[in-house]
Amino acid sequence: MYITEAKKHSLFKFDERGFGMKFYGDYHIHSNYSDGRASVEEMVEAAHLKGLREVAISDHGPNNIGTGVKSDQKYLEIKRKIKEISSEYPNLKILLGAEADIIGLEGEIDICSEITKELDFLMVGLHPYVKPKNLSTAWNYVLGNQLVKINKGQQEKIKNINTKTLIETVNKHNCLAITHPGLKMEVDHKELAKACVKTDTALEINTSHRFPGVDIVLEIVNSGVNFIVNSDAHFPESVGELDFGSYVLEKAGVPPERVLNSVK
Ligand SMILES: [Zn+2]
Ligand SMILES: [Zn+2]
Repeated sequence: MYITEAKKHSLFKFDERGFGMKFYGDYHIHSNYSDGRASVEEMVEAAHLKGLREVAISDHGPNNIGTGVKSDQKYLEIKRKIKEISSEYPNLKILLGAEADIIGLEGEIDICSEITKELDFLMVGLHPYVKPKNLSTAWNYVLGNQLVKINKGQQEKIKNINTKTLIETVNKHNCLAITHPGLKMEVDHKELAKACVKTDTALEINTSHRFPGVDIVLEIVNSGVNFIVNSDAHFPESVGELDFGSYVLEKAGVPPERVLNSVK
């Protein structure tokens, strides 16, 4: 066991050990093309050592301030890299994903369609520091999510904007999943789950952020929405660390059939 892993285990708030759901792949991993601390090769090697059968490099879109890829063309470079190393890992399928940013209130994202076509799948997520498409987005969404911290009266309004923007996005694009839904940017999980059922989009249980937790998943378990469990690893040590996902899903009574990457 890595030292960092041992340390993390000792800090668990809940005892997550002893839950049985297992996962064969991790689809939300950052490399140093965005804000990950290791190369594509190092992250893939970590997935191999962890015994995963599938792994995806899903770096931040270019409009994520300070952390995104330099331009969306970089995904093609990552794709070439993946192709180069694939033959070294006969038992590991290596995929190219992306964690796109939403830059407009109508669900516009920061990766153009020529590039999304080249991805194995697309994920989208709300992040607080994103370069918006226009002023109205800047005002309502980027600034709104900051102001809400000091002006609680705006909370409901901002929550509705966040929810509506995400719904527009999954309606507009073919998304595998919404990453960390509601993290630091509130959403109406029930409304979001409904839209995700219609568009066949999964909601992510993000084990790095340990979000969403049992309470939120319980709220939406009856919607029929699917889930995916991802590490959001920025370091090799976190790749495939998915125990928090089994804890949350089993506590909330979500069966493995509703979890895209669970071993059935
Ligand atoms: Zn994210
Ligand atoms: Zn991420």
